[in-house]
Amino acid sequence: MFIIKEFELEGRLGVIKTKRGKVETPAFFPVIDPLKQLVSIKEIEEIGFDQIITNAYLSYKRFGEKLISEGIHNVLNFDKVIMTDSGAYQILEYGNIDASQETVMNFEKAIGSDIAVILDKPTGDVNKLDAEKSVEETLKNAYEAVKLKDDKTLWVLPIQGGRYLDLIKRSSEESAKLPFDIFAIGSPTVFLEKYSYKTIIDMIATAKNCLPPEKPVHLFGAGHPLIFPFAASLGIDAFDSASYALYARDNRYMTDYGTERLEDLDYFTCNCPVCSKYTPKELMEMDKKERERLLSMHNLYVIKRSINRTKQAIKEGRLWEFLVEISRYRPEAYEALRSLSKYIKQINKYNPRYKGNPRGLRFYNEENLWNPRIINYKTWILTKYLPDEKKVILRQIPKDTRYCMGEDGREVIYYTPYIGLIPYEICGVYPTIQFHYYDPIPIQVERDLINMVRVFIIKMKKLGYDIIVEASYNNYYSHDIGKEAERLKVKVNWK
Ligand SMILES: [Zn+2]
Repeated sequence: MFIIKEFELEGRLGVIKTKRGKVETPAFFPVIDPLKQLVSIKEIEEIGFDQIITNAYLSYKRFGEKLISEGIHNVLNFDKVIMTDSGAYQILEYGNIDASQETVMNFEKAIGSDIAVILDKPTGDVNKLDAEKSVEETLKNAYEAVKLKDDKTLWVLPIQGGRYLDLIKRSSEESAKLPFDIFAIGSPTVFLEKYSYKTIIDMIATAKNCLPPEKPVHLFGAGHPLIFPFAASLGIDAFDSASYALYARDNRYMTDYGTERLEDLDYFTCNCPVCSKYTPKELMEMDKKERERLLSMHNLYVIKRSINRTKQAIKEGRLWEFLVEISRYRPEAYEALRSLSKYIKQINKYNPRYKGNPRGLRFYNEENLWNPRIINYKTWILTKYLPDEKKVILRQIPKDTRYCMGEDGREVIYYTPYIGLIPYEICGVYPTIQFHYYDPIPIQVERDLINMVRVFIIKMKKLGYDIIVEASYNNYYSHDIGKEAERLKVKVNWK
């Protein structure tokens, strides 16, 4: 069962209830390798992960029948939520493995998985014909799996299609009709490895647009700290990856924006217990296994931090601002932000106009103008809002907004960068007043403001409103608004 507690953009804070316990979403499931796990599950739990994922096929290879007689929680000594992957990825890697849907699902039931993935046919980065085949085969598997499901386990159905959006659409539309508990977007790892965030954004947005909004959606193989907030903003609720361990094996040190090679570092810029205790040089001089273990732990701390920052931003209604901030970390992230703005309409279907306990918005540059909530607000002002009074005055917003005041017989509408126009009567209602920006504003932001004022004036004139604009010679954008108003033959009170 999935309970959504809070929406922000298309993302949400929620709780997945399993037979064993709860998973707070967005959540990250560290991948446990049954054959060569260096960081113990206990340590993973101490870092703050209440859920793990492991591979059913590899677990069986490692533990055999014991898994069935004792149950996976006892064998792994972890009494929180365990998700199992069917092992389909191994099929992708090693060719066909002889296992039927029934064998795989019965095994997952028998070992006591809380969340279990059915046997699917992952797409990977293949040609369209093969991608199509994996979509059809996974759907065939899904119909069969519906009959084999039990009620205790949460069953996961992977969406296939690779980078072919029409195939993802077909896969999602058909999957949406089936009674699975969780949907998962398959095989994005190949694109993540290339930092092709844009492809992932398109894949997620396409799938999410077809999937039922009340169901959780998982993104397989996503372990880059930068992808979490972007994916979460489109409604991805869970992630899993072995990246923390794979990078460590390769001496790669995760940062908030990517990875660094350990040997290139003179200082650690992270405050996790590993980085607080050691220097890069000390780690380099260590025994390889111990270094790998410590690096894995650091990487998990970085992942945890990114997940928590994402959650906090959702809570505060600042997810878009957070994305703008991290879009500066690397060009691919900036590209991701741009791709995301293609899906504003889809996002605004879920994005709440108001938040219960929001933090003020902070504006820096034109990307803040793409904030779906701001776009939503401006669209409302320009298409729906009509002043009560037939006389309207447009006035620059005072520095201290406590001095905002109404006037008898005249509707006061304030103008301000980023937000645009704020009628006096809704001053202070989120998001119209709790925001900060720095002067001078970027030229694109000024153009956006003047454009909004122009569109509004033209509409008001058409509807027969009497408009006065207040403008100041001492302020550049107010001055430009005054000039624009004069061009539109509107009376301007210069100050
Ligand atoms: Zn660290």
